[in-house]
Amino acid sequence: MSGMRSTGRLHIGHLFGVLEQWVEYCKTADAFFEIADLHAFTTGFTEPQAIRDARNEMVVDWLAAGVDPSASTFYLQSAIPEIMELQALLAMITPVSWLERVPTYKGQIEALGQEIATYGFLGYPLLQLCDIAAFRGERVPVGRDQLAHLEFGREVVRRFNYLYGEGVEVLVEPQATLTEAAEVPGTDGRKMSKSYRNDILLADDEATTVEKVRSMITDPQKIRRHDPGHPEICPVFALWKLVKPAHVPLVEETCRSGALGCVQDKGDFAEALNAYLRPIRERRKVFAGDIPQVERIIAEGSEKARTVAAQTLADVRRAMKLT
Ligand code: SF4
Repeated sequence: MSGMRSTGRLHIGHLFGVLEQWVEYCKTADAFFEIADLHAFTTGFTEPQAIRDARNEMVVDWLAAGVDPSASTFYLQSAIPEIMELQALLAMITPVSWLERVPTYKGQIEALGQEIATYGFLGYPLLQLCDIAAFRGERVPVGRDQLAHLEFGREVVRRFNYLYGEGVEVLVEPQATLTEAAEVPGTDGRKMSKSYRNDILLADDEATTVEKVRSMITDPQKIRRHDPGHPEICPVFALWKLVKPAHVPLVEETCRSGALGCVQDKGDFAEALNAYLRPIRERRKVFAGDIPQVERIIAEGSEKARTVAAQTLADVRRAMKLT
């Protein structure tokens, strides 16, 4: 089980960091992918229309990247009331102190301001657990920064099973599959992120991509074309590794020797990136032009997901003597 908050169009950081792994999960697991629109409300509750609009855009990008809905389940979080019911039930046994000690909680409030200090935001990790537990998710791909969230969820599951399971594991303790998501730098060298406005979108056209690559920062000490460069600190070089690994030794050697200038290298890289993204962008156009099909995929996946979640909820209610 994995998911993304519905916050809009995706960039190549999502492609290399997440979506290419999802394509593989479709081949090897019974994968569930969540459009996490309720999670988007925890920080974006003043913009319901933006959250609504973002979900189709995001799923179009999933499909464009090759995530196969016929070999997995795409579902809309808010279309599965069982997730919210499970959250209400598990809230009864979740100590507030466990939520407050999740490391990202205080950090995010400091970064985003007190207006997001809501009950919903505090409960974010519990809702995340319910996204997984409702489907008895066994494996969850997470980065190191998400491990604390998952450990919190595992503690809640253990507590539930201890209190109500009578020796049976009603809920499944999810295991982390630690993913070393590719660190994808943005055009300014910081992590690629929509909020930093340093992203290259899957939906960008080729000319925009060339323009964005042209604006990328490089090794600041390589001022003239023949100055020797330090590719290890250059974001263009980091992206070469993801887009065309076979070309990396040549870039490295010629950058260091001064034979390669940044203008030339950025031009070559933009061309390679556009070639890499071309089939993705072609698929994107097809799906973006057929939103009814995209909505059908989401509706069918949600219906299937709901059947699974309803079974889990029946077991949970029975365990809590709520039948
Ligand atoms: S030549 Fe290429 S790798 Fe070297 S600093 Fe310039 S852009 Fe970066």
